[in-house]
Amino acid sequence: ENAEVVIIGGGVCGLALALFLKRSGIKTVVLERRGRTYVEQRQRAGVVDARAVKMFERWGVAEELLTGPVAQTIEYRLNGEAKIFVAPATDGIESRFCTQQMLVNNLLKELIDEAGGDVRFEVSDVAIQNEADLPPIIAYQDAHGTHEIHCRYIAGCDADRGISRASIPSGMIKTYQYDYGYAWLAALVEAPVRGNPIMAISDDGFVGQLPRGPLRSRYYLQCALSDDRSHWPDERIWDEIRLRLNEPAIENVLVHHVEFVPFRSVVHAPMQYRRLFLAGDAAHLVPPVSAKGMNLGLYDIDVLGTALSAAILKGDATALHNYSDTVLPHIWNYQDFAVWMADTMHDAGNPSLHGDFKQMTARARLNNLFRSETAALLHGEYQRGTN
Ligand code: FAD
Repeated sequence: ENAEVVIIGGGVCGLALALFLKRSGIKTVVLERRGRTYVEQRQRAGVVDARAVKMFERWGVAEELLTGPVAQTIEYRLNGEAKIFVAPATDGIESRFCTQQMLVNNLLKELIDEAGGDVRFEVSDVAIQNEADLPPIIAYQDAHGTHEIHCRYIAGCDADRGISRASIPSGMIKTYQYDYGYAWLAALVEAPVRGNPIMAISDDGFVGQLPRGPLRSRYYLQCALSDDRSHWPDERIWDEIRLRLNEPAIENVLVHHVEFVPFRSVVHAPMQYRRLFLAGDAAHLVPPVSAKGMNLGLYDIDVLGTALSAAILKGDATALHNYSDTVLPHIWNYQDFAVWMADTMHDAGNPSLHGDFKQMTARARLNNLFRSETAALLHGEYQRGTN
């Protein structure tokens, strides 16, 4: 069997790339180890930034894919005192609240149900042959046996624990990693955000509440790296939310799901090896405080999709050769933003983290957003993904 491109991983990046290539008339196969229902139900990010909105508009699919309202404001709260940050929109295009789950569901509908795209679910044992000067071969198993696809290019969109990056011989890519030393408890609950999304700093640690559709929201609570569910029964989750938000009237509601996210930032570079190109979480991770993980992946896909179509449709592989060099400056820029967000939101809170000196400088940094137009403009650019 032959294809121009095999995409490994049918998450948000793999599906967005597949839709882009399908619309360009390029024969593409997506290999996904989970079933469609599992992929449809996975809940993670909540905001598509303005840069990604623009990309979907350029591809002519924004209306089909982005079904949530505009996201321009965020409430930064310091020990109960709220200040609303409004990201200055300089070009009329706004970020959108659109959960990753909603985006993925819409991508699946457009790609498979509308356009007849080739996504193979529940595959296992994906293996990559990516030898010098030979077309790659991808082998995989499904319920019917073992299969091989001969292709021209491979897109590795199978996130941090996938096979794509692992297939690259050691020494060919360098890993840059920073561990922050704390984690977030992420709780999906049956209560919407009332008003603005909240990022709250308190002497007792960080808490955030971000929208996840009209009926649900996600609370994030700073916690220790070693914490697990046994340290956090529902009653403690609600007590800490009330304490850190300084809102004693909040009532306990149903907690659907709890996970623990250790804070780390990672970049693997270069993001390509021979005919394999890494995108999204397979190439880089940012802590969720930045709300950039999905958006950086979509940036990769924008560049990679354009480069693949130039190589396949016009025979010009220059952009493909330059893929990693093109995207990495943007990735590093947003790694820096993620460090800024993580340090500011956590150092400004409980002084037991990095001491009271860091607490006060982090508070000054946050305050700058409300007293300096220049600082607000820069912060807004980062939030909108246009910096
Ligand atoms: P994924 O979405 O993980 O998709 C990878 C796919 O590859 C999966 O479907 C997986 O099943 C498949 N796969 C893996 N291994 C194999 C294999 N060997 N063979 C075949 N298939 C395979 N980002 C934001 O922008 N904003 C946020 O607010 C935000 N909040 C987050 C909150 C949480 C709790 C978490 C965990 C993440 C959050 N993120 C956020 C990050 C965002 O979810 C990821 O950056 C995004 O999912 C990356 O997309 P991806 O397509 O690279 O990876």
